[in-house]
Amino acid sequence: MPRCISLIAALTLSATLDGCASRGAGLSAVAAPNAEGVLLTPVASRNGGPLRVLVYHDMEGLAGQDDYRTFNYSHPDHYAKGRAYLAADINAVVDGLFAGGATSVEIIDAHGSGNPAPDLDPALLDKRATQLTRDAPFRHYVDVVAPDAYDAIVAVGMHAKTGSRGFASHTVTLGMGLSMNGHAMTETEIVAYSWGRVGVPVIFVSGDDRLQRDLATMPWIQYVVTKQATSPNTVVLRDVKQVHAEMKARAADAVRGIANAKVVRVEEPVRAALKVVGPASLAVLRGVPGVALSADGNEVAFEARNFQEAYDGLNALIGVARLAYPATTNAVLREHADGPRIARLQRERLMERWFDIEGGRWTPPPAVTPTPGRKYYGAQ
Ligand SMILES: [Zn+2]
Repeated sequence: MPRCISLIAALTLSATLDGCASRGAGLSAVAAPNAEGVLLTPVASRNGGPLRVLVYHDMEGLAGQDDYRTFNYSHPDHYAKGRAYLAADINAVVDGLFAGGATSVEIIDAHGSGNPAPDLDPALLDKRATQLTRDAPFRHYVDVVAPDAYDAIVAVGMHAKTGSRGFASHTVTLGMGLSMNGHAMTETEIVAYSWGRVGVPVIFVSGDDRLQRDLATMPWIQYVVTKQATSPNTVVLRDVKQVHAEMKARAADAVRGIANAKVVRVEEPVRAALKVVGPASLAVLRGVPGVALSADGNEVAFEARNFQEAYDGLNALIGVARLAYPATTNAVLREHADGPRIARLQRERLMERWFDIEGGRWTPPPAVTPTPGRKYYGAQ
């Protein structure tokens, strides 16, 4: 399934990031938080010079796409079609960004299909753009954020948040609702808050009509609707050629109109909360003293000093809430002819592990280290 924010061990974020000077920081001190509990400040004025754009891409909000298998690596034939849709959308946007005056465009993978190679096939990418890579795994929404690295952020093929009834709508992963200061966020807003820390605005987004509605919070964004969602797994598609023409025109407008964009910063301290629906669950937290669980048991909240703490805490809680996913595995095992045998093997492995640890015979596996020579593109 999609894993739009990687939960893998990641590079350590510089502790100075949340304290670093934002180019909008001088103005944020006088801005009042809006209804979403965020501070909106103007983009720092520009006097020519390079205009560097970082393009995030997901894979659920693509033009021409109406089948969930096209964003899942586990369905190779459909996934190949999804990669073609992705490259076509990215290239239309890249074309527009350069037409509007961008001087460099980098692409970062925010989907995580399970493919060890990037979801965006390098052979299909417009040669003027490059793919952002690192030599070790990293968290695409937070670990690349740095002052004076980019001037604008773009997000292509994005999806609506959990509960929005968009095509494959979710936030980070299945059944999770993330909020900061009482506002339920899309992943696009997570990107905006993260880059807002260093004064960089989100200027262009594409996705379905439900995400457009979710992003009414950021009206300066040049938004292209790729399709109308009629349920979480059905859509009415728009004409793809027309969508790509709009992408090119609005991406160019987004660059030309960058002065109209706003930098978004979440007000600190941050009241963060995770609200779940199935297949996620917070039931394992019931009865733990000191845990701020709602009366219905579906929401847990905490206070964080800043965005980074809130984001890290929410991801840790997502790890708890997804403990409920294997209930599906157990159901499949019960239905499968080989299920009882596999379930017995699993129990035996658990017993062996217990005895080995208790008997001092177990050596923990070595920490996972980056594969030498391998490039990491984001949410892989
Ligand atoms: Zn995704």
